[in-house]
Amino acid sequence: MLNPKEALDIVLATVETLETEATPLEQALGLVLAEDIISRDDIPPFDNSAMDGYAVRWEDVAEAAADHPVTLDVIDDIKAGDTPLKEIMPGAAARIMTGAQMPVGADTVVRVEDTTTDDGGAREAFETDESDGSSFKPVTITVKVKSKGNVRRAGEDVATGEKVIDAGRELKPAEIGLLASLGFPEVQTVRRARIAIVTTGDELLEVGQPLEPGKIRNSNAYSLAAQITEAGAIPIRLGIASDTKEAARKLFTEALDQADIVLTTGGVSVGKYDVVKDVLDEMGAEQKFWKIAQKPGHPLGFWVLNGRYVFGLPGNPVATMVCFEEYVRPAIRKMMGRTYLFRPEVQAILTSDIRKRPGRLHYIRVRVQKKNGDYYAESTGPQGSGILKSMVLADGLALIPPEIESVKAGERVRTRLISQPEDH
Ligand code: AMP
Ligand code: MG
Repeated sequence: MLNPKEALDIVLATVETLETEATPLEQALGLVLAEDIISRDDIPPFDNSAMDGYAVRWEDVAEAAADHPVTLDVIDDIKAGDTPLKEIMPGAAARIMTGAQMPVGADTVVRVEDTTTDDGGAREAFETDESDGSSFKPVTITVKVKSKGNVRRAGEDVATGEKVIDAGRELKPAEIGLLASLGFPEVQTVRRARIAIVTTGDELLEVGQPLEPGKIRNSNAYSLAAQITEAGAIPIRLGIASDTKEAARKLFTEALDQADIVLTTGGVSVGKYDVVKDVLDEMGAEQKFWKIAQKPGHPLGFWVLNGRYVFGLPGNPVATMVCFEEYVRPAIRKMMGRTYLFRPEVQAILTSDIRKRPGRLHYIRVRVQKKNGDYYAESTGPQGSGILKSMVLADGLALIPPEIESVKAGERVRTRLISQPEDH
């Protein structure tokens, strides 16, 4: 029987990165960029004011000080979006707002707070409307400013021709904003993986149905769809197949038509009505593995069929989720072009004893807390593979190696932080 590491290696050696496609910027969050982005423009595209104030020639105000006020004629009022037409000649200034284009002749902006006007008010005078241009009041400057101060130069953020983002980068909000400022309404990305979910089991009811004797609700379809979405892929829910080969074959065929990965849950063990493996065999699927030395998730299987990847996930709700986390999520990440496939790991101190049978690796669901530089892992309670609550409380998986039979409180265990982004 394979161990988890061998199984994951097979999965990652099998799945291939998906093709690229043009993606509208508003749908690109989290996707991997498939082209280098070269700027076609300067950002900012023109010299502009970083402050509300007065655009001046620096020579005019170089000597300004409290005991040496400099008064300039105000000849213009420039708002963000305006194209200033008047040149600033020696002795003149223009009122200018943050983001407005600098007028010809001016090279420096004096903040409005560092100026006064005849009637004493600075900010007040600045805010009165004289935009007919007839009667700007002269401005007096009493503070020394740096040459070219408070001016954002054209191209100081990004220069035309500069490589701004490398292919392979995962697009986060800042990249999306930068692409927008560079005028890219769409970009080439690795496309999202499409993942079909087929749940099997005569006992399953849809979530809105009232409980009946012998029946339970289909929770796996929901936890999986959520895990798929969280991984950045697209879930396709195909419903419940009863425990017959015909029903399974019908939904598998539908799934293979629509998806890059097919996830089945339940029916993959050795029970009399576990038909998943038989049906996949009959359909000609190539079995890569079946059964892993782990708990939960022992009956996990992996097949390739018609260029699609099929994971036969166990039916137990915790086993389903852990197998997704450990095998399907890294596969999706590789297919979607991500470089980091694995969650961060720490050596955490267990807060209670754990006993287990030797032979399989156990994933213990734990809550991880950091105290005084050490990580502590606290079991989330009963660890049965059907107890979904143990998963709800967990933000870590403590990996207890196959041969180990007991770990004592205070000992350190390798722990995967499953609520934190992949870092390697
Ligand atoms: P199986 O592998 O089909 O024998 O299922 C193992 C256990 O998981 C059984 O107790 C099933 O009732 C349960 N189970 C199977 N599928 C689901 C599902 N979609 N949602 C919740 N529990 C399930
Ligand atoms: Mg079943």
